[in-house]
Amino acid sequence: MLKLIYYLIRFIFYFFALSGFAFAESTSNSACSRIPDALQAATQLYGLSKKQPISCRSLPAKEFKEAVIQMLSRQYPGNELMLEEKSYKMLGLIPEKYSYASCLLKTTAQNTSAFYDHAKSEIIVPDFEEVATSTLVHEIVHALQDQHFELKDYANLYYQSTDLALAAAALAEGEAARVEELFLASSHTKLDNVTNEIKVTTEEECHFPTQVEDLFTFGYQYGKKFIDFTLRTKGKDALENIWKNRAIYSSAQFLGYKKYPIEVFRQQAELTNNYRKAISQRHPFVVYNDALGQFGLITLFKHGTSHKIAVSTAVNLIGDFLFLENHNSNYKLYWYTLWPDQAAAEKFKLTFGEYFRTRENVTVSCNSLTLKDLTNVLFQCQVEIEDLG
Ligand SMILES: [Zn+2]
Repeated sequence: MLKLIYYLIRFIFYFFALSGFAFAESTSNSACSRIPDALQAATQLYGLSKKQPISCRSLPAKEFKEAVIQMLSRQYPGNELMLEEKSYKMLGLIPEKYSYASCLLKTTAQNTSAFYDHAKSEIIVPDFEEVATSTLVHEIVHALQDQHFELKDYANLYYQSTDLALAAAALAEGEAARVEELFLASSHTKLDNVTNEIKVTTEEECHFPTQVEDLFTFGYQYGKKFIDFTLRTKGKDALENIWKNRAIYSSAQFLGYKKYPIEVFRQQAELTNNYRKAISQRHPFVVYNDALGQFGLITLFKHGTSHKIAVSTAVNLIGDFLFLENHNSNYKLYWYTLWPDQAAAEKFKLTFGEYFRTRENVTVSCNSLTLKDLTNVLFQCQVEIEDLG
C-alpha cells in the first residue's frame, strides 16, 4: 500500500501543485540555522507550539540521498514494494511496463528537497542546495504534528492500505500545505531574497504515470480543502479531535466531507472490516493485502473510462479490500467491493467490464450479502484476476 512517507517528504509533485506560487524565498544561510525563525512563523500560523526542541540535520549529497532511501526502505520492509507494484499492475492501476518500485526510490532520492523523519523525530535538509524557508515551515508542521499527535503511531496505524494512507496523508499534508501557503502569503517571505530554482530530474522511463501522480497529489489537493472547510465550519478543536481520536477512516471522507458527517465514514469502515474478517478465512495464502477506497477506484477507472463514470461508480462504494495470493510464483488477485444496493453493485460491474474489456484473465460477479449482526442486506462484487506473467 502506498505509504504516507511519500507525503512527509517535500516532494517534486508538490512543486508542481504549487507552481503558481512565488518560489523567490530562500536564503543562503544553512537551512538548520533558520529553523528558529521558521518555527516562530509555523507556530503562529499553525496555532500549536513545540513541546520539545525540533532537531534538524544538514547532510551532504551522498548522505542525504542515503537517508531518503533508508527512510523509504524502513517503510517498505522485505519485498512489500514489489508486491505493491504487482498488485497495482494486476489491477491495471499502473502500466505493465512501468518500473514502479525502482522509479519511486530513484525519483524520490533525486527530488527530495527536505523531509521530516518521523522515526528519528528530526528534519533532514541538504547542505548542498538551497532550502526555501516555506519548505522548513512545512516540515516543522510535521514535527509539531508528531509532538502533539504522535505522527509515528498514526503512520503505523494507517499504513494498512492505500485508502488509509491517502486519508492520513490528506490530514497531515492538508495542514502542512495550508500553513505553508499562509506563510508564502505573509510578510515573512520578504525576509528571503534568493530565487530557489526547481530542479526536477526524473529520468524519462521514470516519469510518473498520471494515475500515480493522482495518488501522490491527493493529500495536498483534497486535504487542504478539507482542513479549510473544517476550520471554517467547526473550528480548530474539531480538527484536533480528529487527530486525537484517530478519526481517519478512508479517502471517501475527504471527498464527501461537505455532504456527510464523519460518523458515516466510521460506520462504512466498520462494515468493511466485518466483511473483510468474514472473507479472509477463504484466503490463507495471502502475501499482500490492500484497499483502494473511493479515490483509488476513481483513479483506476478514470483512465479506462471517463472521470464522470469513475466518480459516479465510486461514490457509492462502502469499502473494498484485495488479497494477493502466490501459488508457486503464479499470482492471483482477489478484489472484494461492498455496495449499499443492487444498482450500485451493477454499476460497478458495468464500469469494471468497460474498464477491463480487453482483458481475458478477469472475472467479476456480484450478489447480495448478509453480514453477521447486520439486518440490512448489502451487495458485494468479487473480482478475480489471474497473473499475466
Ligand atoms: Zn509534507
